Amino acid sequence: MKIICIGRNYAEHAKEMNAAVPTEPVFFLKPDTALIKDNQPFYYPDFSKEIHHEVELVLKISKAGKNIEQEFAHKYYEEIGIGIDFTARDIQAKCKEKGLPWEKAKAFDGSAPVGSFINKKELPASIGFHLNVNGKTVQKGNTKDLLFSFDAVVAYVSKFFTLKTGDLIYTGTPEGVGPVAIGDRLEAYLEEQKLLSFEIR
Ligand code: MG
Repeated sequence: MKIICIGRNYAEHAKEMNAAVPTEPVFFLKPDTALIKDNQPFYYPDFSKEIHHEVELVLKISKAGKNIEQEFAHKYYEEIGIGIDFTARDIQAKCKEKGLPWEKAKAFDGSAPVGSFINKKELPASIGFHLNVNGKTVQKGNTKDLLFSFDAVVAYVSKFFTLKTGDLIYTGTPEGVGPVAIGDRLEAYLEEQKLLSFEIR
């Protein structure tokens, strides 16, 4: 399976990163070794001193597809979950400076914790979500603020990559990204349901 992540999909997050609001989706990949499941802890890597949380809604692809039309894109995912796109912000800044690829900053082992999933039929049209660190809400988003809708993202990505059952799409983070530290507990909520809870070690 593969993990596809959308960058800068909420205008307020693009602004906090001093990045332009994109005119077409920006995306990158993480390997399956980035996944953390079952609320297992995240081990702070020694190559970074600035790991940031980015809470994101995650689509689970339920059917293989290529060149999917946007109007049919909803048929390719049934479940939505929540995850963290961990980012080594210090390494990312160096990569950006030199115009180098981001993988070291984005795709390292454990950089994609993911929680349990909910059938999209049980969710409202605009989905709210938030992240608590040590019980305090640090990021709050709603899909009504997406620059590119879930369906637009599925259609766009599938022009370049065949989507396969079980692939995950991280759909972008709202504003409020920030550092994590050893000992922190991260809890991510989709609407009022806590779907992800793990510790930084
Ligand atoms: Mg992200």
